[in-house]
Amino acid sequence: MSFSYVSHLYCPQCRETYHVEGKNQLCVCGSPLLVAYKMDELKENVKPESLVGRQADLWRYHELLPVQNAENVVTLGEGFTPLFQMKKTGQNMNIPNLYMKDEGLIPTGSFKSRGAAVGVSKAKEVGVEELAMPTNGNAGAAWSLYCAQAGVTATIVMPVDAPEITRKECTAAGASLCLVNGLIGDAGKIVAQAVKDYQLFDASTLKEPYRIEGKKTMGLEIAEQFNWEVPDVILYPTGGGVGLIGIYKALQELQELGWIAEDKMPRLVAVQAEGCAPIVKAWEEGKTSAEPWQNAETVAFGINVAKALGDFLILDAIRQTKGCAISVSDETLLEELNTVASADGAFVCPEGAAAFAAARKLREANWIKEDDHVVVLNTGAGIKYPNTVEVDAPILEKDAKIVRDA
Ligand SMILES: *Cc1c(COP(=O)(O)O)cnc(C)c1O
Ligand SMILES: [Zn+2]
Repeated sequence: MSFSYVSHLYCPQCRETYHVEGKNQLCVCGSPLLVAYKMDELKENVKPESLVGRQADLWRYHELLPVQNAENVVTLGEGFTPLFQMKKTGQNMNIPNLYMKDEGLIPTGSFKSRGAAVGVSKAKEVGVEELAMPTNGNAGAAWSLYCAQAGVTATIVMPVDAPEITRKECTAAGASLCLVNGLIGDAGKIVAQAVKDYQLFDASTLKEPYRIEGKKTMGLEIAEQFNWEVPDVILYPTGGGVGLIGIYKALQELQELGWIAEDKMPRLVAVQAEGCAPIVKAWEEGKTSAEPWQNAETVAFGINVAKALGDFLILDAIRQTKGCAISVSDETLLEELNTVASADGAFVCPEGAAAFAAARKLREANWIKEDDHVVVLNTGAGIKYPNTVEVDAPILEKDAKIVRDA
């Protein structure tokens, strides 16, 4: 019995294969690489029942993860986040079976910890000592903190407008942080140059193959939490799209293992903000890749990605699952954020709020049916974004009384 059944890396574009022992980045053809597992052996040796009694974090799926030696696991207890019914919000949207998987309840307060835990563990395993990455904030925070535990040096570049708490997380973790007067794409260019100049490992989204393996555990968990059945629809706030690609990969692997039925795949929905919707545009135009979005802007910072390296994989995942791509305005998502908090008590992040708003829109269009089981990913904690809610509270003198309107 192996800790991991990882086999090799392969290119989804040109089919070239690579060993997992190296410090792998992109394929020679420029495409992201994906991880393959020895599925026959895994199927033989591991069953859903094998998971019973294991720790409630993402490492319970270690056979389907790329880290080969348990000693290299870097962890803060991430994963196995709660999945629960959003009763009043669901009633309000006329989706009685509306669920939220709450990634706000994870170390560092965003699902980026999943990618960081697995990505940093594997980087440590193959001997990476220094890495660099551009980020919209949450990924940089998560990678900085996991790198601190791993003893890996991290160089992080993020837009000056990224959520302020994320730069403090990087700094507290001892990472080397730069802010750029620009967007994540500009940060990416600066990182690419630093990677060349100083021979750093490039941990940019999809430029290393293992972040997606961490994020795929959201898909594994959803299946396990639904007792190895799958919901009808999964809505995911999509920036670089790693989460969505990962969830799709997870569900395909579970089908191959026979842990879920082969004839039902949830319809995957890529949710974007109207101010940055390259995937939605490409989807509506029937394209297989997306054009860079000009003047990208949204309060949902995690999905402010003008050009995703994995755009073709996102579009393929939604096409194969009969899903769709949809955008919502900042105004709509902020309104939804308040609705969800006041109805069900969940203070979601703006990206998660966008996914709830999209569910409402798709129900109104009858694309989501009344009896569909629908899962919204809340990708982070609302408290990481203190400026999304406007507060108009009176300040009282010490001896004042509360005066209620008659
Ligand atoms: C990064 C991020 C996203 C987008 O995730 P991708 O997998 O890159 O598409 C969504 N929400 C939050 C809170 C994020 O930090
Ligand atoms: Zn290739």
